[in-house]
Amino acid sequence: MAKAFDAVRFYFDRAADQLNIPENIRYLLVTPKREVQVEIPIEMDDGAIATFIGYRVQHDNARGPMKGGLRYHPEVDLDEVRSLAALMTWKTAVVNLPYGGAKGGIAIDPKKLSRKERERITRKFVDQIHDVIGPDTDIPAPDMGTDAETMAWIMNQYNKYHGFSPAVVTGKPVELHGLPGREEATGRGVGILAFKTISRLGRKPQQTRVAIQGFGNVGSHASKFLHESEFKVLAIGDASGGYYRKDGIDIMGALRYALEHHNSLAGYRDAETISNEDLLELDVDLLIPAALGGVITRENASRIKAPIIIEAANAPVRPDADEILAQHKITVLPDILANAGGVTASYFEWVQNRQHYQWGLNRVRQELDRTLGDAFERVWQTAQERKVSLRTAAYILAVGRVVEALRLSGIA
Ligand code: NAD
Repeated sequence: MAKAFDAVRFYFDRAADQLNIPENIRYLLVTPKREVQVEIPIEMDDGAIATFIGYRVQHDNARGPMKGGLRYHPEVDLDEVRSLAALMTWKTAVVNLPYGGAKGGIAIDPKKLSRKERERITRKFVDQIHDVIGPDTDIPAPDMGTDAETMAWIMNQYNKYHGFSPAVVTGKPVELHGLPGREEATGRGVGILAFKTISRLGRKPQQTRVAIQGFGNVGSHASKFLHESEFKVLAIGDASGGYYRKDGIDIMGALRYALEHHNSLAGYRDAETISNEDLLELDVDLLIPAALGGVITRENASRIKAPIIIEAANAPVRPDADEILAQHKITVLPDILANAGGVTASYFEWVQNRQHYQWGLNRVRQELDRTLGDAFERVWQTAQERKVSLRTAAYILAVGRVVEALRLSGIA
């Protein structure tokens, strides 16, 4: 994950160079506003006391309350949380949401804990940080290892201190102040943006052959959207491997299969099995890495045949590989825009909670399309005007907006 941090910093610096941002303002922009580290002692199911460490890093609030996920993973540490918090500042800015960036995490393996233990850890964590989060300050959301239920516990615990405040977290269960369409939003956003990208490049979905790595939340919803929009999805894959069919995968069948097999494609027989490495190098028109970071490296970049890549995962392309893809004239839609559908829907959930008015699914989908569409147009235009890649354009737009907010507030 340190690699992801290096990448964010690298792209930030490149945009800052383009914008001629002086050193003191760069320092201000890369330094988090606040870093909180807390001890979380709880009683385990067997009666023993165990202590865990939790973090919340609030990177920047020049454009509004800070927003970012809460991750439960054994490798969570301050460095990782810090880098992901900065990434959120740029992601919210590129989509023009009135937010800053934050991130949190607890170093635990949620799979090795009981539901009750996870609940106790979550509530104790809220006891420690409730003073620094809130609907107007910092709004957590689900991330790796956390889900809608975790958000419901956070809301409930926070309410004990501050009264009814559903807008303190997003990604809540739809039945408990959550937003219809929040769960599909990242994958759907990837699909919407894939459509906009190929259209700009003069392609039609029917002529666009797609390979998607990852069939979890993001990959499966993106596959569904692309299939319904008449793209030809030739390959899908997950941790169990890749699955390829020259005439197109039966996406609805694959979705059913995964649902019936604990969200895994292991044993899926309606396609040829290939390795995850081969999937990335297939002769297709559009490649969507939607699983892990760092999968396109200096080693395999020159073997990528797809002329278009949509970065659904965070940091799937390493910076040195990015240079090679650029030399091969491959169009890359960067992660800070490509997977921003989730935080955009989180914003709608927050608005819904503050309005005390339940949004319907159609409204969510329309607003998602509009918001991501506007962001896409601005990034595309910036890339054309400045003759830079879409990634550099996205960072220029994001960093420029944060600097402008600081200037207007009289800070920089
Ligand atoms: P998920 O856990 O639901 O799914 C991950 C998928 O990746 C699974 O299908 C898994 O089998 C697959 N996978 C794991 N290891 C693999 C490997 N070695 N090779 C190929 N596939 C492998 O996660 P998700 O929520 O779909 O997130 C996917 C990516 O998108 C992550 O990089 C995440 O950070 C990013 N992202 C997610 C969201 C969101 O709202 N869920 C938002 C922004 C970014």
